[in-house]
Amino acid sequence: MNRFLSLLLLVGSYSFLVPSASAFQKDAELAYMISFKEPAAHFAEVQLKLVSLDSARTTLVLPVWTPGYYKILDNPAHIIDFKVSTISGEPLQWHKIAKNKWLLENGQNAEVFVDYRVYANRKSVAESNISEEKAFMANTDIFMFPEGNLDKSVSLQVHLPKQWDKIATGLTEVDQGKFYAPDFDVLYDSPLYLGNQKIIEFQELEKKITLSIATPEGLDQKKFVADLRKILRSTTKLMQHIPFNDYTFIMMEPGGGGLEHWNSQAVFTYGSFNFENDLAYKRFLNFLTHEYFHLYNVKAIRPIELGPFDYSQENYTTMLWVAEGFTVYYEYLIMRNAGLLTANEVLEFLSSHIKAIENKSGKDHMSLERSSFDVWNYFLNNDAISAETTISYYQKGPVMALLLDIAIRNDSDNEKSLDDVMRYLYEEFYRKQGRGYTENEFWDSVTKMAGKPQEELRKYVESTGSPDYEKYLKLAALSLDRSSADDEKTELVEKQYDLIKIVPENDLQLKIRKSLLQEN
Ligand SMILES: [Zn+2]
Repeated sequence: MNRFLSLLLLVGSYSFLVPSASAFQKDAELAYMISFKEPAAHFAEVQLKLVSLDSARTTLVLPVWTPGYYKILDNPAHIIDFKVSTISGEPLQWHKIAKNKWLLENGQNAEVFVDYRVYANRKSVAESNISEEKAFMANTDIFMFPEGNLDKSVSLQVHLPKQWDKIATGLTEVDQGKFYAPDFDVLYDSPLYLGNQKIIEFQELEKKITLSIATPEGLDQKKFVADLRKILRSTTKLMQHIPFNDYTFIMMEPGGGGLEHWNSQAVFTYGSFNFENDLAYKRFLNFLTHEYFHLYNVKAIRPIELGPFDYSQENYTTMLWVAEGFTVYYEYLIMRNAGLLTANEVLEFLSSHIKAIENKSGKDHMSLERSSFDVWNYFLNNDAISAETTISYYQKGPVMALLLDIAIRNDSDNEKSLDDVMRYLYEEFYRKQGRGYTENEFWDSVTKMAGKPQEELRKYVESTGSPDYEKYLKLAALSLDRSSADDEKTELVEKQYDLIKIVPENDLQLKIRKSLLQEN
């Protein structure tokens, strides 16, 4: 059982040293235990042991959202049979004081047990799902934290039902089935997948990489691992640093969506590796690359509002167009650098985003900044009004990344690019200052690399309407073929906006296009 997770004797990505398993057990300030008596009924039993309580009352809080998934969820509705007792089993009083807060009347008891059950039968990358075959634990909807004590270390003992024998997670295993998180942010950022999934382990860039694959049918393991290695290597080439010691790809059953974490990602899949065609496989690799690149862009390089998190309410930022949009842009560039996409395929993917913006009326009602701030209103909410009046930062974000990349290259004589902005943000704010960037600091970083401010592009982010595509594309010997868009006969169908190569007017334009598309 759990033989695929070994004790790591390395300095962790969260700056803690792992001396020995026993030290962990002693050091963890809170102890959680989870078991699954009725997985087919979608229940888990949770027990929390609180120690060293120095107040007569203690408030426990259950998060109502998961970082990266910008939606308030009804997590507390799925907690039942909540009870509090002394170590010797005497019941203690408790009250609800908010929808996600439980106040314990622990009195003079410095140690208490809290027991409850969780019903987990929802299906998203931010919500736990338990069934006879497996459990996906999102953690935010399972484990409560003592209010004001997110920094407490936690141990988690997992008791698997007999029929399961594997655990995949980014958490450090300190004993058989026992995991450790230095604080609650790490616990909430480290989902677990329990079941009988296929596990593949390999070393790349001197790091341990684990693949947990729920539906491996049709898998060509050699090719898939080789392709992932290329993606990991080209991402490292871009960012020139790796912030983790081990990384786990949690690939689940068929479904939609994926979620980034510090040293793991949890993604739904197509349900098998028998892809319809080569393009479908490339889209799947793009998707894995996206979630992987997020460990740099949104985990390390983050808008200042995204961390420390307030797990009880919305956390607003205007910068998701960078956190998400740039991550889409870099999917393509990393895949291109890995030799897994052609230059023309990069142009086709980028064209698809221009097409998505220009074919919708939302562009005239919502700016990119607004789409970021207001994501809490419309994420997965496609009612009639939002369909007509919103845009997605997943669409306009990568397009702005392209235009910014071209502008920086043009203004710096192709000496600098958006890559330099990403590396600067990573070094300056994540590694040196250990914090997120502000909106102005982001734009200042762009100015620093380009040598001059990009006021016009900033305006396109802050306002509605379409950017002046041609003005910027021309600087990279590119253009937008809108022949079908301008054809009146195509009025009822989606209009095409295809990025095409044009004859450069000078050497710089050609140089920019070649370096951007990584062509010799
Ligand atoms: Zn994303």
